[in-house]
Amino acid sequence: MSDRHLRVGRSSRRRFVADTLHALRLLGPLSRLRHALAGDLCIVAYHRVLDVDDEDAFDFDLDLVSASRTGFRAQMRLLRERFNPVRFADVAAALDGGPPLPPRAVIVTFDDGYDDNYRCAFPILRELGVPAMFFVSTGHIESGLAYAYDWFVHMLLTVPVQNLRIDELDLDIDLPETRVQRRLLGAAVLDRMKAVPAEVQGAVIARLEVQWNIPRARGHADCRPMSWDQLREMHAAGMEVGSHGVWHHMLARLDDASMRAEVIASRQAIGAALGAPCEVISYPVGGFDAYDGQVLAAVREAGYALGCSYVSGTNRLPPAEPFALRRLAVERHMDEAWFAALVGLPEAFSYPSRRRVG
Ligand SMILES: [Zn+2]
Repeated sequence: MSDRHLRVGRSSRRRFVADTLHALRLLGPLSRLRHALAGDLCIVAYHRVLDVDDEDAFDFDLDLVSASRTGFRAQMRLLRERFNPVRFADVAAALDGGPPLPPRAVIVTFDDGYDDNYRCAFPILRELGVPAMFFVSTGHIESGLAYAYDWFVHMLLTVPVQNLRIDELDLDIDLPETRVQRRLLGAAVLDRMKAVPAEVQGAVIARLEVQWNIPRARGHADCRPMSWDQLREMHAAGMEVGSHGVWHHMLARLDDASMRAEVIASRQAIGAALGAPCEVISYPVGGFDAYDGQVLAAVREAGYALGCSYVSGTNRLPPAEPFALRRLAVERHMDEAWFAALVGLPEAFSYPSRRRVG
């Protein structure tokens, strides 16, 4: 939690600098200069695009809401005006000796596959003519089952009991009273959970579902994956669809056979559903501890052309590691000036990724 407080402190300073540069109309020229010098590829990363009118009535992880509809529209307008939105197919072709990418190339990506991607983001992308990549966890698309980490937050926010005990994490604590505190606790526990094997993570959440009688199978309108029909419609309209594993497991936290199965089966499912090969994967969770050399080798062997991490940064061309491309995460609290600063001057306005130990 201290990390979060540190980020909030840094955030207000960054916001002030971004606002000042924006007000002085310096962001556009500085961004053009920076990108002319760097000549790199920026990939922006979203999870959910959603209008949360009443945070108290929203029983899921607010950190996964990257932007409101209005905010997202303004962000896509800015990308279209100051950058050149491209597809991963263009990147793969350029790396394969095809036409080079245009200057100020940017790619818009979404992780997980929430249905607001279709309902809220897709109409805006289509209207503005901005292509995007949707990385989906195919098991969720097929089953309609809610995402486990988000369900964990949902359970913490809604369960009437007073205590949280997770022996696997050596945790036995009283649940705080307020929703704000429970959200902070949820983020901190998920952070700890991501250090243990993926099967243990799954077992802990499944056990709490039973113990607290809040089964994921019950479903919830605020936490639904997209359907294959929706993805087919988006694909036909020029959007790209990539793998985010089958069950959103951290690939580096699985045994070798299970990890390979996730990598291969998700690619096959997307290929079969869309009638087009799936060429790109993004690693669930995506930080330094979510993938390793074994994962990268398995992805290469499975036939993918490119892979994305959630590690913060931009990509030189050709990239040093095409299977661990870096991205710039967009977060809900970023206003227009901050977003312009994030993509315009990423070295100064993106969050450095933590290198977790263990
Ligand atoms: Zn994810």
